[in-house]
Amino acid sequence: MKALNADLHCHSTVSDGLLSPSDLVQRAKDNGVELLALTDHDELGGLAEARSTAEEIGLRFVDGVEISISWGDDQTVHIVGLGIDSANAALVGGLEKVRSGRDARAGRMAAELDKVGIHGAYEGALRHVGNPALISRSHFARYIAEQGHAKDVKSVFDHWLAKGKPGYVEHSWATLDDALNWINGAGGIAVVAHPGRYRLSKAERHQLFATFKELGGRGIEVLSGSNKDEEVREYSRIAREFGFLASRASDFHGPGESWIDLGKLPDLPEDLIPVWSQLIF
Ligand code: AMP
Ligand code: MN
Ligand code: MN
Ligand code: MN
Repeated sequence: MKALNADLHCHSTVSDGLLSPSDLVQRAKDNGVELLALTDHDELGGLAEARSTAEEIGLRFVDGVEISISWGDDQTVHIVGLGIDSANAALVGGLEKVRSGRDARAGRMAAELDKVGIHGAYEGALRHVGNPALISRSHFARYIAEQGHAKDVKSVFDHWLAKGKPGYVEHSWATLDDALNWINGAGGIAVVAHPGRYRLSKAERHQLFATFKELGGRGIEVLSGSNKDEEVREYSRIAREFGFLASRASDFHGPGESWIDLGKLPDLPEDLIPVWSQLIF
């Protein structure tokens, strides 16, 4: 049987994507996506527009979010919530709290960047921020690249914004427990986003998955835009070991800024249970 072309992780201008919710949905449809979730960082503001466009053009759509959490020794981990009720008060209030620290963090980032010769970064990043206004490292990266300090957004991260680089500042996000309570409380399914992108040892990663499961997490992105073949095998094994549902997730941010385009992922290994089998859409 032909597998469903599901893409359950992407970003619009409501967080750090380059396309409006509506343009993103249209692009997904044009790319052959059959089921899409919009998962902006810590924001639900794009879901209504995305859903209405999806209904208009006949694309099945799931409400999603990607929540930033702090884990262990100043690690940031991302938890995707799928099939959430976007009107759920605890979720809405929780995300508001997560977002509220971003502006002060951006000010601190700009101060650090100023010391190493990158001036005006706060104002510059703000010019890239959408509406509602959520300021992220991606917006800084676009400004810094535009100023010619690095050849593209990716290398801006490598030189200036990744952990340990001059523009990186520590920040306290939500806890894993909070994120899972918000997602589960809003009727959603929690999924570990891009499991290969955390700087964790194998044992630490295992601990993350174990705690995630214990606290009510149910899925893992076996296929992520940034996962290499070996990682796909590894996270398939993890899904089997922990009994996790498997997700398929481009993490698309925009043309020219992403690992892969919407829907352009391989199929999941056949023995895994796709997370969308448990979603109502
Ligand atoms: P923030 O939530 O403000 O810390 O921003 C995190 C976002 O920055 C991620 O969601 C990615 O979109 C982007 N990002 C992080 N690391 C990289 C990287 N190495 N290359 C490109 N984009 C990155
Ligand atoms: Mn992002
Ligand atoms: Mn992420
Ligand atoms: Mn993402």
